[in-house]
Amino acid sequence: MTMRLGADPEAEPYVIQVHCTSCGAASDPAPERVPGERRAKAEEWALAHTGKADAQGRHHTGYRVTVTMFWRVSPSEEIDPPAPDRP
Ligand SMILES: [Zn+2]
Repeated sequence: MTMRLGADPEAEPYVIQVHCTSCGAASDPAPERVPGERRAKAEEWALAHTGKADAQGRHHTGYRVTVTMFWRVSPSEEIDPPAPDRP
């Protein structure tokens, strides 16, 4: 049996999101067709977040940026047991 692995056709190709490493605030996840397509928006979010002081008057400057992909494995034949009959 062979298995093919590729992008999940039912999911967004990529999703970019920015997370503040100081407070955990995060931008809205932005779907992308190609990686980096929405990078400018992600950068704007980080710059705006740093521009706002927190309750202690400090500005957050560290960010974790994630780009998420979704994969799907397609076996050449059925590999799961038959679905149970529903009552
Ligand atoms: Zn923050």
